[in-house]
Amino acid sequence: MFKIKNYINGQLVEPESGEYLDNYNPAEGKVYSLIPDSDDRDVQKAVVAANAAFDGWSSMPVLKRSAILLKIADFIDRDHEKLARAESDDNGKPLSLASRVDIPRASSNMRFYATAIQHFASESHMSDDQALNYTTRTPVGVAGCISPWNLPLYLFTWKVAPALAAGNTVVAKPSEITPMTAYLFSELCIEAGLPEGVLNIVHGLGAKAGQAIVEHPDIPLISFTGGTTTGKHIAATAAPMFKKMSLELGGKNPNIIFDDCDFDQALKVSIHSSFANQGQICLCGSRIFVQEGIYDRFVSQFVERVKTLKVGDPHDETSKVGAVVSKQHKDKILSYIKLAQDEGGEILCGGHQVKVEGRCEEGYFIAPTVIVGLDATCRTNQEEIFGPVVTIIPFKAEDEVIALANSTAYGLSATIWTDNLKRAHRVSHQIKSGIVWVNTWLFRDLRTPFGGMKQSGVGREGGEEALRFFTESKNICIALK
Ligand code: NAD
Repeated sequence: MFKIKNYINGQLVEPESGEYLDNYNPAEGKVYSLIPDSDDRDVQKAVVAANAAFDGWSSMPVLKRSAILLKIADFIDRDHEKLARAESDDNGKPLSLASRVDIPRASSNMRFYATAIQHFASESHMSDDQALNYTTRTPVGVAGCISPWNLPLYLFTWKVAPALAAGNTVVAKPSEITPMTAYLFSELCIEAGLPEGVLNIVHGLGAKAGQAIVEHPDIPLISFTGGTTTGKHIAATAAPMFKKMSLELGGKNPNIIFDDCDFDQALKVSIHSSFANQGQICLCGSRIFVQEGIYDRFVSQFVERVKTLKVGDPHDETSKVGAVVSKQHKDKILSYIKLAQDEGGEILCGGHQVKVEGRCEEGYFIAPTVIVGLDATCRTNQEEIFGPVVTIIPFKAEDEVIALANSTAYGLSATIWTDNLKRAHRVSHQIKSGIVWVNTWLFRDLRTPFGGMKQSGVGREGGEEALRFFTESKNICIALK
């Protein structure tokens, strides 16, 4: 069986333990490759390599550093088909989605930061005629980058690209549930001539390999994307060590549909924002609030359309919903559907596992599920399910829906549908989330700040925010008199 390897000091290597973990293809429900079960010894080797590479990489002329990262982006594009297939097989997502979104975004991430660093500037402040203050921004050292399984290469590169562009060296750990494209990425880094030790990829379990990264005294900054519970644990470990931290965590995002909206557009995009990637996008709008004037019409047309979404083999072009990522995650989603029923919810469609014939008969498929009749305060409407499950809740007034939207512990993103410009601004300003989309969803400009409020995280990624996170600023004050 194919064995994924760690990427340490420019080499593809076995884990120190010699042990491997099973890697599943979730659409087939079968083990199809093996992942290094790395531990603190592998992380130690990676940190030593990253530390040794730091001086060379951080002092390399920016244009040269940038050229290597651009070359990696070109190789991602060249291998687009292979990477998309690997992402789909590893994660269960439709091949069409991996091909259209995940892989193009991975090369965009590399390109964006490879060029952003060429324009990155720091401030100077003239303090009357007394002194000149100027700020320098220098790479911090070895960055620890830990990423989740839902958008594997997309989110892995979203961290690694700015970290490297800013001149840091990196020890990264992709999710043990979807390690394949990060492994293929390490091959591309070697081919592109990335100097040894600049990027090190240690595969393995969060509690073992991930924990070793977070605890390591020579890793002064941690960029983490994953669940809120894991984020809390990471913060508790890293904060007493005074590490710089960026935490991108869970969400329970409201999708607010006012009765003055463009109904057809809201309906169409809401299908997508509910079920894209099997609802496994931190930005999915899992709580749909619909104003009472259009509630009945919206619910009936929404359900009618959801029923037509084809759940099937991710390789099949006509499949709109692929497999969820693992058996454990499938069981978690199904347990939430059961909870919703126990809480008095009515399932209008879905609510069950789907058996797909052929090679996928053992796969983890769940029918897109729409639930009504639940109070906004119940667990189903408060906790992140992270699957193809949405609830629809009616509302009367603007103030009421703002309070409902803000009523969870999360604050990642929100979507608002209205043709009333003043309302769009008014509501956007009152929603407590890091991102608000009005009359669109998941429109991403990589220059914008990305991240959550409350338990959805700390810090922002994207644009200059990431370059600021991955650099240390210093103020130098020179007396002029
Ligand atoms: P997770 O928290 O289980 O794992 C994320 C990563 O952390 C994995 O690589 C895992 O191995 C590692 N990890 C686990 N325990 C660790 C520990 N003790 N120390 C160090 N690393 C550890 O999350 P997941 O299930 O992979 O991803 C789903 C979650 O990610 C959802 O909650 C989703 O909302 C969130 N997410 C957030 C964003 C965002 O930008 N805010 C984006 C995507 C996903």
